[in-house]
Amino acid sequence: MNYSKQKEIIYKTLTDNVVHPSAEYIYEILKKAGSNISLATVYRNLNKMASCGYIKKIEGLEDKAHFDHNTFEHYHFICQKCGNIYDIQKEIAPDIVQKTQEKTGFIINSHDVVFHGICLECKKKER
Ligand SMILES: [Zn+2]
Ligand SMILES: [Zn+2]
Repeated sequence: MNYSKQKEIIYKTLTDNVVHPSAEYIYEILKKAGSNISLATVYRNLNKMASCGYIKKIEGLEDKAHFDHNTFEHYHFICQKCGNIYDIQKEIAPDIVQKTQEKTGFIINSHDVVFHGICLECKKKER
């Protein structure tokens, strides 16, 4: 399989999963679907796409990186029960970068805002 075909399959698998899968997760899905793409290849492709800004890499969650096909500015919520990662639209705090720059005088090139808690699904189950 050539490089662009692999990339296409990996990207498609990423966009089909709303919960920001890790490389391992994508690898498992591809394997179950009968693909012979190796985990190293999945990693390499994801990292490459992330460095081009084609997708977003979310680091510092658990011990592995998760990937996001949504490259628009937004925040994340991680459920402490199921571990799923959800998107939070930037509208909840649209001027967070500007305000922080004004307050600190720092130049902000990028930011990762991550909320931790219990998601709706898990909240329902708890009752
Ligand atoms: Zn949950
Ligand atoms: Zn996201």
